[in-house]
Amino acid sequence: TLNENYARSIAYYNDTILNNTILEKQLVGDFDQALKEKQFCMYLQPQMTSEGKMLGAEALVRWQHPKRGLIFPGDFIEVFEKTGLIYRLDRFIWELAVQKLARWQQEGHSDLYISVNISTKDFYYMNVYETITALVEKYRIIPSTLKLEITETAIMTGTAGELDMIEQFREYGFQVEIDDFGSGYSSFNTLKDMDVDVLKIDMGFLRTSKPENLEKSMSILNMIISLSKTLGLSVVTEGVETKEQVVKLTQMGCRIYQGYYFSKPIPVEEFEKRYM
Ligand code: C2E
Ligand code: MG
Ligand code: MG
Ligand code: MG
Repeated sequence: TLNENYARSIAYYNDTILNNTILEKQLVGDFDQALKEKQFCMYLQPQMTSEGKMLGAEALVRWQHPKRGLIFPGDFIEVFEKTGLIYRLDRFIWELAVQKLARWQQEGHSDLYISVNISTKDFYYMNVYETITALVEKYRIIPSTLKLEITETAIMTGTAGELDMIEQFREYGFQVEIDDFGSGYSSFNTLKDMDVDVLKIDMGFLRTSKPENLEKSMSILNMIISLSKTLGLSVVTEGVETKEQVVKLTQMGCRIYQGYYFSKPIPVEEFEKRYM
């Protein structure tokens, strides 16, 4: 009956919440040791031209958990943001990225860049500017080879001086990227109110729920790409999975791609073997 179904779905719902809460608590409890034992690692996903030339990469964290195996950011970033642990994880990943850039630059690959993700919450728990510039000075890398990815939501809801800090980042020589552009509710306000270097277009435009909306999506992509040209920004399209997508977007004027069509995020050693 309806009531039984209802009761069952509530029970299922409670169960799921409970399981999630337990899992979250365990992950939070595991954090200190994980950081100490370097269970978090940096994967790299290449950013490519349509011709397949590798320009740089995005650093994406993975958790090599001793009991649970490889865990993806979707399962822990939010929990760490809620609990204020995220800044320690991000600082760790940024350091891995800067170390890698230093090594590449010593080996003569000074043209390659790495993009790192900055969480909104990082701005609450530390001075992001000081943390990142300290790393750059410690490892003596070329600042323009480190790109900083910030989501538009972080920028528009920011109260911790994020906008000023973005200006400071750019003055120091970092490139600033808006991540997941178009997924928030204030994308165009973001562009009006701040200066950035790169727009990373949200994958959502390539994944319409109804096939008949794909055409609309493509028009929006076209508009975003030409707008970025007008504003002097470079564009990265994220989430390209097929050759057709790359061909279409290249016709629209996009030059840089990140997506499974070229490669999934892979361990650093594999990245170096494959691309360098
Ligand atoms: P993001 O920064 O937008 O990163 C892109 C995500 O899209 C990555 O997921 C990547 O694996 C995935 N992706 C790239 N190309 C394709 C494609 O062609 N198809 C599909 N289906 N997916 C594709 P990932 O690594 O699971 O990361 C998810 C999100 O977690 C990231 O989204 C970012 O917001 C966050 N994240 C990852 N690493 C870090 C980190 O070190 N610090 C912080 N604060 N957040 C991170
Ligand atoms: Mg990103
Ligand atoms: Mg993104
Ligand atoms: Mg994202």
